Amino acid sequence: MNTHDNIIIQNYSNGKYTNPKSNNWIDNYEPASGKIYSKIPNSNAQDIEEAVAFAKAAFTTWSTTTIDERSHILLKIAEGIENRLQELVEAESRDNGKPVKLAKAVDIPRAASNFRFFGHAITQFASESHESVGLQAMNFTLRKPIGVVGCISPWNLPLYLFTWKIAPAIAAGNCVIAKPSEVTPMTAFLLGEICTEAGLPPGVLNIMHGLGTSTGQAILDHPDIKAISFTGGTKTGEHIARTCAPKFKKLSLELGGKNPNIIFADCDYDRMLKTTLHSSFANQGQICLCGSRIFVERPLYDRFKKDFVARVKELVVAHPASAKANLGALVSKSHLEKVQSYIALAPDEGGTILCGGNQVIIPEYEEGYYLEPTVIEVQSNRCKLNQEEIFGPVVTIMPFDTEEEVLEYANDVTYGLSSTLWTKDIDRTMRMSNALQAGIVWVNTWMMRDLRTPFGGVKASGVGREGGFEALRFFTEPKNVCIKYN
Ligand code: NDP
Repeated sequence: MNTHDNIIIQNYSNGKYTNPKSNNWIDNYEPASGKIYSKIPNSNAQDIEEAVAFAKAAFTTWSTTTIDERSHILLKIAEGIENRLQELVEAESRDNGKPVKLAKAVDIPRAASNFRFFGHAITQFASESHESVGLQAMNFTLRKPIGVVGCISPWNLPLYLFTWKIAPAIAAGNCVIAKPSEVTPMTAFLLGEICTEAGLPPGVLNIMHGLGTSTGQAILDHPDIKAISFTGGTKTGEHIARTCAPKFKKLSLELGGKNPNIIFADCDYDRMLKTTLHSSFANQGQICLCGSRIFVERPLYDRFKKDFVARVKELVVAHPASAKANLGALVSKSHLEKVQSYIALAPDEGGTILCGGNQVIIPEYEEGYYLEPTVIEVQSNRCKLNQEEIFGPVVTIMPFDTEEEVLEYANDVTYGLSSTLWTKDIDRTMRMSNALQAGIVWVNTWMMRDLRTPFGGVKASGVGREGGFEALRFFTEPKNVCIKYN
């Protein structure tokens, strides 16, 4: 075994770090070097059973803890994350392969913001009342925490997405069984300690590590886990829906995307070009919101193609700790191979590779999972490269002539997460924003997030919305009380 470190990651259950009952462990790889550097529990149904018992015991007190106290603890957790910023940044980068500077600018600050945001949001969350005029009755809606809920998250934005679920769940008074991706467990492991230091009572948050098929499945199957908030692939989402629907669990599913980036000739060219580099290759293209299908209005097409390819060739693929790295390593060997398999499809799918396409060998890190940023020119939106989620540093480009034509391309895909539109024409902006089948439309920007806004997708990109009060509504059960008076 090529171990060069020996970190043991443990579950965080009832406020304590514990080993899995089965003593079953999984190797955790460092994407930058391709070497094993830690071990994580592969928790099973018994581990989940025990965590649920702890969570149920904690619920009685946590659900009746004052809003002020819950808010205070969430704000302390945010502070705890900020106090350990550098340690978390390095852990995230090492575990995921993303550049240190990205983890420092985006991932870890956002994890702190998630707790701070929901720590404040819960103090402003109100429920409805309806007066039955003329009938002398008053209705009001109680919003009660659900109980024990499950939060399952993916590997691409590990602590960022993990906390995006946990923060609203506990703010609303629930107790949580949370499973980070088995591929990126490290910052979730560190979060346990931060929560304890912030005064989160034992059992309110239980962080259980392991494979989707064992730990994740045990969370889905447990009868006392009443809601599942999931972010991950569409296939896994289908499985979760199939498993949970007959059990009547409340479900929030944030799934895959194949987002169009639509560029009209009247756009602010420099801003568009700079942002498009970012929306194509940030986090090695492993963001569900990346604009992986680029459509350019024909009068601008040749200029864009030349400039974009030139700029992509300048991007530096390097060890994630290098200050020069624009792209680090992909998250795992199997994911690298999956992305490469799509690049290999290009000739048969009518695609021309304009740049990139090759694995990058970094001296001293020859076994790391590095890949060149890749641009493929395609002839049709129906090719696999435009229809299937690749989720790596690969984008396609293609020209269009009319608004109607590009709208058809944009919507002709099973996914519907986000869209990006570059134009200065306000009438077109409104027409397109109305017609695009997506949960999010960015105009002249990308990935600008206001945490109050609804976040989620349509079609195969998911069901439900996260963010702001939408998340607090998901994690509460409304109960109408109708009072008749004389
Ligand atoms: P997966 O669907 O493979 O995994 C997501 C999580 O689900 C992991 O923790 C995984 O465990 C777990 N899981 C897998 N199988 C089961 C199961 N049977 N029961 C319960 N849990 C299970 O997604 P990836 O981690 O590969 O993430 C990439 C995907 O996430 C992409 O499709 C991307 O588009 C999507 N995504 C969507 C976002 C959105 O907001 N819409 C945001 C970010 C990513 P394990 O550790 O074993 O993998």
